[in-house]
Amino acid sequence: MNDQKKRRSMLLYVIVALAVYLFLSRSLFPQIRNATITTVDYSRFLSDVEAGKVDEVELNTGSNTIRFVEKDGEDEQIYETTLFPNDTQLVTLLREHNVDFSADIPDQSGELWLYMLLSYGLPLLIFFGGGWLLNRMLKKQMGDDSPSMNFGGGFGGFGMGGLGRSNVKEVKGEETGVTFHDVAGQDEAKDSLVEIVSFLKNPDKYTAIGARCPRGALLVGPPGTGKTLLARAVAGEAGVPFFQISGSEFVEMFVGRGAAKVRDLFRQASEKAPCIVFIDEIDAVGKRRDAGLTSNDEREQTLNQLLSEMDGFDNQKGIVVLAATNRPESLDQALLRPGRFDRRIPVELPDLAGREAILKIHADDVRMERGIDLGVIARSTPGASGADLANIINEAALRAVRNGRNRVNQEDLVESVDVVIAGEKKKSTVLSEHEKEIVSYHETGHAIVAAMQKGSAPITKITIVPRTSGALGFTMQVDEDERFLTTRREAKDKIAVLCGGRAAEELIFDEMTTGASNDIERATQIARAMVTQYGMSEKFGMVALGQQRNRYLGGGAELTCSEGTAQEIDAEVQRLVEEGHQTALKILKENRFKLHEIAHYLQRKETVTGEEFMNILTRDDGFAPKLAAAQPQ
Ligand code: ADP
Ligand code: MG
Ligand code: ZN
Repeated sequence: MNDQKKRRSMLLYVIVALAVYLFLSRSLFPQIRNATITTVDYSRFLSDVEAGKVDEVELNTGSNTIRFVEKDGEDEQIYETTLFPNDTQLVTLLREHNVDFSADIPDQSGELWLYMLLSYGLPLLIFFGGGWLLNRMLKKQMGDDSPSMNFGGGFGGFGMGGLGRSNVKEVKGEETGVTFHDVAGQDEAKDSLVEIVSFLKNPDKYTAIGARCPRGALLVGPPGTGKTLLARAVAGEAGVPFFQISGSEFVEMFVGRGAAKVRDLFRQASEKAPCIVFIDEIDAVGKRRDAGLTSNDEREQTLNQLLSEMDGFDNQKGIVVLAATNRPESLDQALLRPGRFDRRIPVELPDLAGREAILKIHADDVRMERGIDLGVIARSTPGASGADLANIINEAALRAVRNGRNRVNQEDLVESVDVVIAGEKKKSTVLSEHEKEIVSYHETGHAIVAAMQKGSAPITKITIVPRTSGALGFTMQVDEDERFLTTRREAKDKIAVLCGGRAAEELIFDEMTTGASNDIERATQIARAMVTQYGMSEKFGMVALGQQRNRYLGGGAELTCSEGTAQEIDAEVQRLVEEGHQTALKILKENRFKLHEIAHYLQRKETVTGEEFMNILTRDDGFAPKLAAAQPQ
């Protein structure tokens, strides 16, 4: 049953319950109705008595109030007023006018109890009882096709077993509408999942042979690469229900709730098997238990429950547990042993073809001008995840709207790459002319050093438009094709390119600015990785001096060497960076005239394309450098 229907019948139910309650309270229990009692002054009461309108008077000595009834033929009206203190005449007056009068005993507990029961207990009973009945009825009618949670009995309170239920979102596989077609560029991952899909579609075929299908598979990879998307696609392909819960949802305030949720999750799943249980961000619960000082009882209990459920369920029915994480190394070993998450499916950052395919999928959802070249965008976004690429398309669409167009054009896309990678153009930062000049020389420095070296990717764009990320400008280099290996030469060239900005400042202004801090950081990072991870230094050779942490989250390396060695590493790193710095200075000195020319051009134009840059650099005016043979263009 879909959501809308559910909501509608719930509304109907509330209305009916209210109507029934009102009817009962008005007709069956008139003594407890009090809506029709009118409060009046004492003087009105006296005058009514004198006028002979009052038939009955009842004095409540507990609350010092008087209720009196006036009858007018069939009509009967009840009034209430407060007793006037020390009115000794009242009894005489009442007797004179032949009014029935009485006083009740202040202790009303018996009646009060009945009153409370009727006015509060009854509606609750109607509510929950009715809800329960309705729930039963609906369930029967639908042929038990929805989980019984959060409806009827659970509605209006936590009454009937609402507490402790996990908020597992069940989405029927087909309804998510996600299939493998919606996931681009993850062919290896898809291949590994095909078997699971086939098992879910046809569990009997497997069990007939005696094959045991994997109970669980762990999707590991950097954030935004489509792990969640893949899990949903598996459910969609197999057409089975999909139960999703996030690891962090397990870890709640009350001890024991997490374990209860796990139990409930698997109970629901086994009712609906074959199905998929997806635990997103499993590292939130599945962290190694011996992690040391900060042990978390709740998390451990939850994890233990998860482990025992995974052992316990009978896999003939076809429950597959998928989980996603970007920190596989932090997971408890017990989770990874056979019979649990024994399969590990890497979901890596997309390569060039993958990026183009992902862009295409998302581009299909927005209106584009004809002749858009997504290949260019894919080439300029190495290292971008699927989520980044989806974001680029969306930014482009937003930009098109902002500029009052109804189709996205190539420029929107190019600009949104900059936005996603470098941050939005910052309009409010106004650089002084002198600062602009410095930034121009700095960026041109990077570009010329890059152009003059064999191992550097060609320049596609230089800009000195400030970005919200804090960058005052940037030089973009894009490889013609995808690179998987970096040679030592290329790594050294990269360091030199990064030093090019500062080198230009020193050479032209004989001064240094803070603008190079990011360059310095990156250059140092590369040099350090060369020494400690890639065995590229003469001094240490092929010895691993560090160990990578959090591979998928881009964590750096942790040194695994003695303190003395660490000092030598620092010296070696320094030497490598300095070497790059000297190379950059040398190149820029040799091309001083071109540096001036291009920097001034950039200062005027603010953004220069790779083509314009190369045209000026190679224009034969007597200063053109002899470009390395491998340099394209
Ligand atoms: P993860 O769970 O790995 O962090 P998600 O699956 O949540 O990443 O991906 C976030 C979004 O990025 C998806 O909703 C989708 O729009 C987009 N995306 C990521 N990877 C892909 C892909 N391979 N193909 C198509 N879209 C993708
Ligand atoms: Mg996710
Ligand atoms: Zn720089």
